Amino acid sequence: KFDTAAIQRQDTAHYMHPFTDHQALGGKGVRVMVRGEGIYLWDSEGNKVLDGMSGLWCVNVGYGRTSISQAVYKQMETLPFYNSFFNTTNLPAVQLAAKLAEISPPRFQHVFFTGSGSEGNDTNVRMVRRYWDLLGQPARKVIISRHNAYHGSTMAGASLGGMDGMHAQGGLPIPDIVHIGQPSYLESGRGMTPDEFGVAAAGWLEQKILEVGADKVAAFIGEPVQGAGGVIIPPATYWPEIQRICDKYGILLIADEVICGFGRTGRWFASELFGMRPDLITFAKGVTSGYVPLGGVLVGDRVARVLIEQGGEFNHGFTYSGHPVACAAALENIRIIESEGLVDRVANDTGPYLERRFAELADHPLVGYADSCGFVAGLNLVKAKAAAVHDHELFDPALEVGMVCRGHMFGNGMIMRAVGDRMIIAPPLVMTRAQIDEMVALIRHCLDLTHADIKR
Ligand code: PLP
Repeated sequence: KFDTAAIQRQDTAHYMHPFTDHQALGGKGVRVMVRGEGIYLWDSEGNKVLDGMSGLWCVNVGYGRTSISQAVYKQMETLPFYNSFFNTTNLPAVQLAAKLAEISPPRFQHVFFTGSGSEGNDTNVRMVRRYWDLLGQPARKVIISRHNAYHGSTMAGASLGGMDGMHAQGGLPIPDIVHIGQPSYLESGRGMTPDEFGVAAAGWLEQKILEVGADKVAAFIGEPVQGAGGVIIPPATYWPEIQRICDKYGILLIADEVICGFGRTGRWFASELFGMRPDLITFAKGVTSGYVPLGGVLVGDRVARVLIEQGGEFNHGFTYSGHPVACAAALENIRIIESEGLVDRVANDTGPYLERRFAELADHPLVGYADSCGFVAGLNLVKAKAAAVHDHELFDPALEVGMVCRGHMFGNGMIMRAVGDRMIIAPPLVMTRAQIDEMVALIRHCLDLTHADIKR
């Protein structure tokens, strides 16, 4: 039994939350999550909640996995910490590095560990600039990213990201980071087929390269499926065309797979699904299913060879790079994903089932568009539907219809996120068909409640 009001008072008095307007919250107190099991959470009042977001897109194997806590406990008892600086290493870090080389595309034989995805992207910035320095092209510093991208909250991560609200706080982006549009068919694809739009949106990269000067561009970075920006699933033509343009100008490609990695799209890494051949892959979240913080960069042969053979010492690293406890958690997490065939399930069983059930929601009067990719999905709330998606009438953003819907979901026992009027999910990969049915029924119920609110 918990004294929720007392916990909330303490929270309000002392805890400054990430991405939270405390003034707007008005001291009303927040929901206190106390326990998790499978795809469900329980709050301090005993309410059961279906977690449609896997925490923050990370609890891929679900909550309550005692084999992970046992692996963590055992490692803590044996060797709770040792670093990998100054010619030392530790067993879980070595084993995890080898495991990552095994499950990633063949050209990835090396990994640089960090404590988070943000640190992974900072590492990318330093690595690609170091790469071009070593090749005698120090002018190649510019990294091209996309509007509405999310690449973390450190200075470089938030700069690579394309969130205006983040840039406005703290004078970002830092120099030599520029942005192009996101491949959102709904927003920018009017008058085109999705495939035509994919090629057109990739063309923005070439325009930017020519504008900046090809000899100044170091790399392009993108999430295969943009997550926090609203689950933007690009047309099939987009990434192959981006790849072609990167190859044409010799520019490095960085895939930020912090959300997409470790089975989320039905592949170990979504790059494989989309026909990308990245030189660097950022990962975090799903590598440990969020049980312990861990992130890093998979370093492809093209970059690894130059850094290792010509670079001498790379003056970069974190105390917790290759933390043995985090690596032990990751090894057990990956073992679970493998032994339960979760990547294959998302590719061939529950993923297609979720896609079908989610697409059915498009018959609801509020839903103008619904799409999914493996275990990430989104639907757009619209005021009035038209025959063509670009002709739907949208709500006045000031109504915050997405937030109204999110409130109903939360109140009725499910976590679903709102990005404007796009409702998004990224459930744990262990979700069964029956649980997908339960989730879709809950969503439909809350769409009805939202619809009733609007009409009132
Ligand atoms: N990159 C992507 C695509 C993300 O979604 C996130 C976090 O949501 C990050 C990077 C940052 O990761 P972290 O919060 O572990 O620093």
